[in-house]
Amino acid sequence: YLEQQAARESNARSYPRGLPLALASASGIYVKDADGRSYIDCLAGAGALALGHNHPLVKEALVRAISQDLPMQTLDLTTPVKHRFIDDLIGLLPPRFAERARIQFCGPTGADAIEAALKLVKTATGRRSVLAFRGAYHGMTHGALALTGSRGPKEHVAGLMPDVHFLPYPYAYRCPFGVGGAETGRLASTFVERLLDDPYSGIVSPAALVVEPVQGEGGVIPAPLTWLQEIRRITRERGIPLILDEVQSGLGRTGAMFAFEHADVVPDVLVLSKAIGGGLPMSVVLYDKDLDRWAPGAHAGTFRGNQLAMAAGIATIDAIREQRLDRHAGAMGERLREHLMAIQGRSRCIGDVRGRGLMVGAEIVDREREPDAAGAHPAAPAKARLIQSEALRRGLIVELGGRNDTVVRFLPPLIVTAEQVDSIATIFDEAVR
Ligand code: PMP
Repeated sequence: YLEQQAARESNARSYPRGLPLALASASGIYVKDADGRSYIDCLAGAGALALGHNHPLVKEALVRAISQDLPMQTLDLTTPVKHRFIDDLIGLLPPRFAERARIQFCGPTGADAIEAALKLVKTATGRRSVLAFRGAYHGMTHGALALTGSRGPKEHVAGLMPDVHFLPYPYAYRCPFGVGGAETGRLASTFVERLLDDPYSGIVSPAALVVEPVQGEGGVIPAPLTWLQEIRRITRERGIPLILDEVQSGLGRTGAMFAFEHADVVPDVLVLSKAIGGGLPMSVVLYDKDLDRWAPGAHAGTFRGNQLAMAAGIATIDAIREQRLDRHAGAMGERLREHLMAIQGRSRCIGDVRGRGLMVGAEIVDREREPDAAGAHPAAPAKARLIQSEALRRGLIVELGGRNDTVVRFLPPLIVTAEQVDSIATIFDEAVR
């Protein structure tokens, strides 16, 4: 399979480079390859499989939907399933957002929803510039890629959306201001405020500020909650719509239903995908009704009415809510971070362990070499790749991310048990050794 894949599939393929696997079956947090080897899946469809693979409740919902002859694709027409899905999803939002929320179905991918959000705020404000963050990841389409912090994927694609301004993300370990620790968040929000008030910054009134409350692909960096609160205040005071990209962090993963709840703020626009379709493709934008200034038909797309994804989404939302899997994710994430910090204490190559809920990362560095002024050691990309492949050999799938691909990322399904978390840590420990 792998040889055929290399011969036939695009050179742009990404995951198979570090994870040379042919997956044949899957259940819960486990996948099996074509040779029958079992792996713990800490990638889980890049965070799409909140309930893991083939959860009985999701299977049951899908079988029921098919056996009832539901219409499979319904564009943006309404259906009883869609009605229920919207009720369930909006029911998860804090009341002050839920009461004013409008929902737009956007198509299969997170990037689709980011594109819709950009058009929405441009239409509503009549402005065109957008503020985004260093290290941000919002997808690979032209608009979303324009907001992406890393240079690599943009370098060969000329003509992306202009007028995107990149601000420093509060990444304490590799602090953009060279100080580190708690000061990073304070300086990062002060920087944004001064920039917006500086008539010489070169930035005209932005249509939006777009941010991930926890950077995922950018290296699992949870923004300090006080920083998020400051960003909310700064944008509100200046009439700049705040778009929160919770494509990865949403639906329980960070230990709350949405990552913004930890900071007790609400966005103007919330972008969701991955887990909301229960593992099937779907994305939505939820936004304040004041922004709903679209002309009829101003945004369209064929695959906005995937009824199977909505049925699987309803089952997933119900399970997360009823089993309090958000809280569970918080506890399991803490357990995993504690293990990783113990491993860090014994190793010469882990510089930082961080995360929120079950978005967990370990940054691989060279501790034999001198740290910078803020205490960060040089990145060790070859070691990170080796750790990934040693973990895979021992039956653990983890993905890399962050600057230079040096952050080992753990994104297990939310149903992971304490025992399974311990196994993940044991395998990772062996791989690091
Ligand atoms: N935003 C965030 C925060 C993401 O993590 C991702 C995907 N990793 C996207 C947007 C893009 O989603 P998709 O790959 O479905 O286009």
